[in-house]
Amino acid sequence: MTAQLINGTALSQKIRSEVAARAAALTAKGVQPGLAVILVGEDPASSVYVRNKVKACAEAGLHSVLERYDADLTEAALLERIQALNSNPSIHGILVQMPLPRHINPQRVIETISTAKDVDGYSVQSAGDLMSGLPGFLPCTPYGCMKLIESTCVDLRGKHAVVIGRSNTVGKPMALLLLQANATVTVCHSATVDLKSHTRQADVIVAAVGRRDVLTADMVKPGAVVIDVGMNRNDEGKLCGDVDFEGVKQVAGWITPVPGGVGPMTIAMLLVNTLASAERTLP
Ligand code: NAP
Repeated sequence: MTAQLINGTALSQKIRSEVAARAAALTAKGVQPGLAVILVGEDPASSVYVRNKVKACAEAGLHSVLERYDADLTEAALLERIQALNSNPSIHGILVQMPLPRHINPQRVIETISTAKDVDGYSVQSAGDLMSGLPGFLPCTPYGCMKLIESTCVDLRGKHAVVIGRSNTVGKPMALLLLQANATVTVCHSATVDLKSHTRQADVIVAAVGRRDVLTADMVKPGAVVIDVGMNRNDEGKLCGDVDFEGVKQVAGWITPVPGGVGPMTIAMLLVNTLASAERTLP
């Protein structure tokens, strides 16, 4: 059996054009959705991520502001900038690119962003809303993974989902979203004994570890949906995920590639969150 490919690039383009149409309608009513992106320091990967986010905004008709600061920016100065953006009515979403330089406390920064503009969904309030099933901003990567799973038309009700990884930004919110969709959820992590015994039972597997070949063909039940969040480099220096794609695609029913799977969806969902934030400001 060869798995069907879940094409994150195509799905993200569809979502982005829907965002563009809604953004145009909102702009016509006098509210152009606006995103502020803050980058502190010169991390090359972060520079690429923020550039892509700003470009995606422009393509969808969103207004965006990119604020770049030297790595020696003080925490107090950063918090002051965030507070200014919190009270700027043309900005509906604020994103501070992680990681931050070591002298800046990331949680303090996240908690300074107004809950109404927390389009990354990283704040304690957003996490609490998700846990309680209240409306709020969903973290973009797990939100995008749910859209990818939805696109397969596999009904999650009663299915066994295994999430590998338990970070606050990916693994934990992913598990909560799968639970909300009525899956039975197992969360695995670095202390999990016999990972394979869990993944072999899974109808849906989300791998969010950051290590190549965490999931190989022998660990997958035939027909399973496999979502690969990981971003790693292979021996040739090319981008690859956590999943042994060539092996697992022979067993799985559905699989996301890397690149072209979860990555583009993360940016698309950031646009969705920013648009939703702007729409909420309408009377
Ligand atoms: P993270 O904070 O480092 O978390 C990694 C998780 O994997 C931890 O919970 C860790 O367990 C677990 N883990 C480590 N080794 C394991 C093993 N051998 N077996 C099972 N679990 C293991 O990373 P993250 O921020 O969640 O990101 C995960 C990956 O996704 C990274 O490659 C990242 O670059 C990628 N990512 C991609 C996107 C995208 O848009 N495509 C977005 C976000 C992240 P412990 O908790 O026990 O340490």
